[in-house]
Amino acid sequence: MFRLGVGASRIAGMAGLGTAATGIGAYEMMNSSSCDNPNTEITITVKNFNSGGAAGKGPEPRLAYKNFPASADYPDLSKHNNHMSASLTPAMYEKYRDVVTPGGYTFDNAIQTGVDNPGHPFIMTCGATLGDEWTYECYKDFFDVLIARRHSGYPADGVHKTDIDHTKLKNANFDEKYVLSSRVRTGRSIKGLAMPPFSTRAERREVERILSKAGCALDGELKGYYQSLPNMTEAQHEQLISEHLMYDKPVSPLLIAGGMGRDWPDGRGVYLSNKKDFILWVNEEDHLRLVSMQKGGDMGAVFRRFCEGLSQVEGQMKKEGYEYMWSEHLGYILACPSNLGTGIRAGVHIKIPNLSKHKDFEGILKKLRLQKRGTGGVDTKASGGVFDISNGDRLGYSEVELVQRVVDGVNLFVEMEKRLEKGKSIKDLMP
Ligand code: ADP
Ligand code: MG
Repeated sequence: MFRLGVGASRIAGMAGLGTAATGIGAYEMMNSSSCDNPNTEITITVKNFNSGGAAGKGPEPRLAYKNFPASADYPDLSKHNNHMSASLTPAMYEKYRDVVTPGGYTFDNAIQTGVDNPGHPFIMTCGATLGDEWTYECYKDFFDVLIARRHSGYPADGVHKTDIDHTKLKNANFDEKYVLSSRVRTGRSIKGLAMPPFSTRAERREVERILSKAGCALDGELKGYYQSLPNMTEAQHEQLISEHLMYDKPVSPLLIAGGMGRDWPDGRGVYLSNKKDFILWVNEEDHLRLVSMQKGGDMGAVFRRFCEGLSQVEGQMKKEGYEYMWSEHLGYILACPSNLGTGIRAGVHIKIPNLSKHKDFEGILKKLRLQKRGTGGVDTKASGGVFDISNGDRLGYSEVELVQRVVDGVNLFVEMEKRLEKGKSIKDLMP
């Protein structure tokens, strides 16, 4: 059964952004303006890594696979409703069970999270993970079907585009009576290192070393400090979670079954700009989650800082010879197939008590290709009419296009909410 690890307490903490100013006083005292050093220093660089050979030429499959036919290992998916269960066939499983990626990831590793989590109460999950840079190529037939399902028919030969020219974004200043906070995040994986579902402790620590160093070299409004999670007290971590600045403990069954909770809290941490509006999450679901956020409705400022931060972090990494996992077809390659492409999720916390009760709300979201979540994160239910509204797509559209889609949708939602407040019809505003 699906168990919600965060639930009500996180929803209660949702006011976090609003109350952060009063909440951080004592905590601020504990932050040093310098950066934490990660516990372990490893000096190998990615450019020297052995990349392991061609896709499909991995290590030998485990002995047990030789002792039993693939049919005997086929998972029971009879109660499942996720993109993995809808995509997988016995023939595909037979083709791939014994294929090991050059990094050592197996097909069973890739589908485990979807086997263990039949469904999710709020979103349609992918139910599969990528563990290294070869995972997609090695299990291409399966991932092509899953990706097409998740990303509105994205074709197996699709070419993904990138555009982070923030000046193209229009009308991105929301009515703050309704929009409480604005946020844009993406993820990045570092080429040569296994991703969080499969990374070793050494790889995870190397990711932390690279990213904490890149963070601490940032300048101007992005300047800040790195805090490693093992060096934080429980109270400090909880405080950051309630301010929406740090990811939760691995309580999500999706993350646990995906292998992302192993060795917790080793190698994890967060970089915060001094104003706490630019954030790097290290080794949560992806090597890097880069977040720009602030209270209120100025999505234009949030996106500008996001784009500038993205370029600066990449510049710092390149100086040391590292690069992101990327392909023309998949864009940026991240651990969950839902995040392939741009990895971008632009969203707001918006107060729409009337619209969210409207009979057409779900249909409107679907039509505009927007997603709703609770304000405590993906595993939480919305409360008090406040929702996290964000883009559902990440692949096949550019960053600018996806953020603009959210901006246009949110402006429309505000218009609709105003009408409904006055008891008026929204019929003519329907998309
Ligand atoms: P993601 O996977 O995009 O990081 P999650 O749903 O896992 O998003 O939530 C991660 C954290 O980010 C949670 O604490 C959530 O409350 C916070 N968050 C997400 N969107 C916003 C927003 N618009 N404003 C403030 N906090 C947000
Ligand atoms: Mg998340």
